[in-house]
Amino acid sequence: MLVLKFGGTSVGSPEAFAHAADAVIGAREQDRQVVVVTSAMSGVTDALIASAEAAEAGDLTSYQRSQSELLDRHREVAEVLVSDESERATLVQWFQDRLDELGRLCQSIAVLGELTPRGRDVVSGLGERMSAPLLASVLRDRGVEARAVEATHLIVTDDRFGEAAPIMDATCKKARSALLPVLERGAVPVVTGFIGATERGIPTTLGRGGSDYSASILGACLGAEEVQIWTDVNGVMTANPKTVPEARTLPRLSYTEAAEMAYFGAKVLHPKTLLPAVEKRIPIRVLNTFNPDGPSTLITGEENSYGTVKAITSIENLSIVNVEGRGMMGVPGIAARTFGTVAREGVSVLMISQASSEQSICFVIPQKDSQRVVKSLEEEMTRELARRQIDRIYSIDDIVILAVVGAGMRGTPGIAARLFGAMGSNNLNVIAIAQGSSEANISLVVARDDAEESIRQIHQAFELDKVG
Ligand code: ADP
Ligand code: ASP
Ligand code: MG
Repeated sequence: MLVLKFGGTSVGSPEAFAHAADAVIGAREQDRQVVVVTSAMSGVTDALIASAEAAEAGDLTSYQRSQSELLDRHREVAEVLVSDESERATLVQWFQDRLDELGRLCQSIAVLGELTPRGRDVVSGLGERMSAPLLASVLRDRGVEARAVEATHLIVTDDRFGEAAPIMDATCKKARSALLPVLERGAVPVVTGFIGATERGIPTTLGRGGSDYSASILGACLGAEEVQIWTDVNGVMTANPKTVPEARTLPRLSYTEAAEMAYFGAKVLHPKTLLPAVEKRIPIRVLNTFNPDGPSTLITGEENSYGTVKAITSIENLSIVNVEGRGMMGVPGIAARTFGTVAREGVSVLMISQASSEQSICFVIPQKDSQRVVKSLEEEMTRELARRQIDRIYSIDDIVILAVVGAGMRGTPGIAARLFGAMGSNNLNVIAIAQGSSEANISLVVARDDAEESIRQIHQAFELDKVG
């Protein structure tokens, strides 16, 4: 059995839908049983969320505009690729109904003046609920017996709206009983990515970009031979090809390396995608919908010996918070209270670095949270600030974490020298450094203005343009 997931650009236009359908037909020639997972058409989730946020602010024109734009985009695909008239009419009515639902939701949001995480999940999942039936119709038009399935009936999650986690036992039970009969009949289920529902049936989402995760959850439940992530670039590359045009496809990666890359910003994979796959040892392949015979990446449990540094990734829109003071030395519990305060604010820390002199603690968090965190640290440390044990607490905004990833770095001397050599000789300033204990990654903090140049210089210093 194969699970094929199509991302937003892979279902972004009539041409893209046609390519995606070709990929499904190709996969069916390899394996009789194929499960499809699809994202919303590109840009749709953003438009839905923007409509809901505008409604919260009292602006109802935004959703009305979205309703007509989204109807046009989906209808266009149906007009080009679904030849049966009554099938097309049913589809268009379905889109209309979902967009009416958007209207009702936005009106309620406007009345309440509040967009709750729960409401946001209902709105943001509407895109997948339109694209999945559309892709199923396109497949049927090409002679494939396909059936759209809403993942709210398959993926059972907790109620952390916006970032829900699957409850695997319950999910696998539902997914197997709903999908296996369809597969045994020789039909192709086309499942909505990104969404799930709580045990009580309340809709949730798995987090932005979460359709990759949906695919690996279902792949693990069904014991798939392979989960294929079909996207708009040639697999997982040595760097984001939009920043580094010379980036090359990484033919193979280990689960650990792919997870480090995803966690540190390689958007091509949602960071949680690897979790279900690792447990069941299911290979993940990343391929280009628009270049199906081109290079691709195979991710497995095997460690690969090629290359020391394999890739460089980045996360943007971050701040570094510093808690500084000579008097901190030897005062027990400051670090614990610092991170306790951050945790109470519900903010997750991406990276920590402490100078061994104990004169400062610094850590990286999302920029949107930085002012709030600094303020609540000042409150927590009022006494230490008054006694001058802590001199100041402040944040630097507009920073970027760069991560250099590769399992072969472990035990290889000279990597750090080459890395900092590349930075130093090009006058690129490193604000902080951390190395994961897995040694499969070294991360650097740099200013936003230095980020792109740093990525290009590091890419060049490790000759990543020669990979493959
Ligand atoms: P999809 O809609 O198919 O899920 P995404 O936009 O989520 O696609 O992810 C694909 C994008 O990830 C690419 O277009 C590319 O710009 C970006 N990307 C960032 N880092 C990498 C990398 N190391 N390798 C490949 N793509 C990357
Ligand atoms: N459509 C969702 C998003 O834009 C999920 C996904 O594309 O994976 O976040
Ligand atoms: Mg994605």
